[in-house]
Amino acid sequence: MTATLFRDDAYAEQCDATVLRLDEGCVVLDRTVFYPTGGGQPGDVGELHWADGARVAVVGTVWGEAGEIVHRVAPQARLPAVGNRVRAAIDWPRRHRLMRYHTALHLLCAVVAAPVTGGRMAEDKAHLDFDIDMSRLDAAAIEQRLAALVEADLAVEIGVIAEAELDARPELVRTMSVQPPRGQGRVRTIRIADVDYQPCGGTHLRRTGEVGALRVGRIRSEGRRNKRVTIVLDEMPS
Ligand SMILES: [Zn+2]
Repeated sequence: MTATLFRDDAYAEQCDATVLRLDEGCVVLDRTVFYPTGGGQPGDVGELHWADGARVAVVGTVWGEAGEIVHRVAPQARLPAVGNRVRAAIDWPRRHRLMRYHTALHLLCAVVAAPVTGGRMAEDKAHLDFDIDMSRLDAAAIEQRLAALVEADLAVEIGVIAEAELDARPELVRTMSVQPPRGQGRVRTIRIADVDYQPCGGTHLRRTGEVGALRVGRIRSEGRRNKRVTIVLDEMPS
């Protein structure tokens, strides 16, 4: 099992860890800051460094079996032995963009009052699908309400809810296609002031102001119950 440091601190860019298991093109550590693909959020990429100065690129991160997180590396990569110490460092600019998109999707969820039928984010855009009539989706109005929530610079807080309570309040699961991970008796939640509250396992910003400027890129029908709203972030001044 890999300790999920990104859940407690999404801003951790690197950590030291011990190699638990190696496989062709796969490295499993005892702890990691690398987020594994899930909940519509792509897995992290980055680098593993070992003590002798060698480094290997991590090209993706996924869940393995039994709570393991698998760092994918080139099959020919020279790897450390099991038990060795490594430093795991994510591609932070990429992750931060994904955190901005992820947090923005929570705001989009709050702005469009309709069931969410799907969602996904990438480095350059993100979307949610809603079960709603097209005539009720107005790009300018959505942009205006999103901008107000960003401007309000609301706190984004991590919490937990008991599985039994979640079962009694199914309306909290906003994204029908993305059920939160179960089995520990408790499920992680994300609360954005009184705007959004739902179970979510992803990585988020601390405050909505950090999302920055964004616009609605496109609104398109992807089927009877899927009306897709795509958002695009403007580049942050660095
Ligand atoms: Zn989330």
